[in-house]
Amino acid sequence: MKIVLFWHRRDLRVHDNAGLTAALQSGFPVLPLFIYDREILDQLPSRRDARVTFIYQQVERLAQAAKQASGTFLAYYGRPLEVFEQLLSDYDVAAVYTNEDYEPYATERDSQVARLLQARGAELRSFKDQVIFAKSEILSKSGTIPKVFGAYSKAWLAALRDEHLAPYPSGELFRAENLARLEPAPPRPTLEQMGFTPFEQFVPAAELPADELVRNYHTTRNLPGLENSSTRRSVHLRFGTLSVRELMRQARALNSKLLGELIWRDYFMALLWHYPFTATESYDPRLRRVSYRNNEAEFRAWCEGRTGYPLVDAGMRELNQTGYLPNRARIAAAGFLVKHLLIDWRWGDRYFADTLLDYDMAQNVGNWQWMAGTGAVAAPWFRVYSPQSQQEQYDPSFAYVWQWIPEYGTCEYPKPIVDHKFARERATATLRAAYRAVE
Ligand SMILES: Cc1cc2nc3c(=O)[nH]c(=O)nc-3n(C[C@H](O)[C@H](O)[C@H](O)COP(=O)(O)OP(=O)(O)OC[C@H]3O[C@@H](n4cnc5c(N)ncnc54)[C@H](O)[C@@H]3O)c2cc1C
Repeated sequence: MKIVLFWHRRDLRVHDNAGLTAALQSGFPVLPLFIYDREILDQLPSRRDARVTFIYQQVERLAQAAKQASGTFLAYYGRPLEVFEQLLSDYDVAAVYTNEDYEPYATERDSQVARLLQARGAELRSFKDQVIFAKSEILSKSGTIPKVFGAYSKAWLAALRDEHLAPYPSGELFRAENLARLEPAPPRPTLEQMGFTPFEQFVPAAELPADELVRNYHTTRNLPGLENSSTRRSVHLRFGTLSVRELMRQARALNSKLLGELIWRDYFMALLWHYPFTATESYDPRLRRVSYRNNEAEFRAWCEGRTGYPLVDAGMRELNQTGYLPNRARIAAAGFLVKHLLIDWRWGDRYFADTLLDYDMAQNVGNWQWMAGTGAVAAPWFRVYSPQSQQEQYDPSFAYVWQWIPEYGTCEYPKPIVDHKFARERATATLRAAYRAVE
């Protein structure tokens, strides 16, 4: 019996799934599939990783959904090319359907899988699902990706039609007559078999935030001390447990600021796809030779939330304890690392990559380069935020600080690691020198 495989990656849901819909409409019985990719998992710094636990739980949930619909869900732990070699010899595969993934490693992996399938008379069909506009869909009149968010966002909004946000009917199509059933179902790997220890962190439910939160979003989003100040849906957007179209529809109806933040998400995804080298290199050549100080002891103090600047420290402690930190605290922490401590943005990017539950290469690199002033879109290199003014503006009652730094205000809390005025002058002088060296 010829079958079609549907390969889940960053889309761990059945409902409103573009590629899954196409697979279920292909006329062939569908076997949904997930591969725990050793190329990625083997590089993680710890075997106790909340993201792996989260993925595992979602994969098991998908397997239950397939079982309830009288289908079978496949899961493997291995290297994608080897897994597909095996699948092609075990089953008569007409095609593999999937949703596009724009990260450099993923695009390379997918072209290798596509070549393998083609050599065996099958094909890889990829669909846009995790963004509204991808790759080169939004370009300026000169045919390049806009270098200013305002221009990108304007073009994005002008291109938007209702159908771009319309849901796909995969949930309704996910029925016995469209699914393949294997008896007995092949075993799926457990976390322990893959060498991981379960580690659960708090993740809100994969459902839309309350309308009231969204309506107030523009007034609350920068106040980290407030409960429900932002949607906290980034983990779900990262792993596709929530459809971005659903959240976009809600934002479009209720709050243009939230819609704008989601457009940033599309933008950073497109920028990384256009400039994959920015995953590890500053986009701006003038800022590739900054004489960063890269002091290891200061980096450790930053990681551990011991800089003596309470907004920065509260953020880093929340990150270390929960895997999350609010956008305003990310801005304070990132700005402080690259400007006040003059530590290479890639050190901070790596630390966030290892610790954030919602870590997403495009968003992380894009935002870090924005903060460092080095990106394709970036804050001016000479902008140095004052951590103290940010504290006064966004956490004036110190509610956020008290929540994460119980010893704040006692002699146990460290003195500032560096004076703000001195650090600002040092940062601007160092960055100016890098600029001038190339001019
Ligand atoms: C240095 C730094 C690193 C970051 N790293 C990541 C990352 O690895 N993964 C990640 O998802 N976000 C990252 N962000 C963006 C942003 O901080 C988070 O998306 C947001 O804090 C998540 O909380 P939320 O879901 O409550 O966001 P909300 O404020 O409720 O926004 C809703 C959604 O919009 C998107 N969004 C919001 N702000 C941004 C932004 N600045 N850039 C891109 N998309 C945005 C996110 O998908 C978010 O879930 C980073 C920001 C900074 C400054």
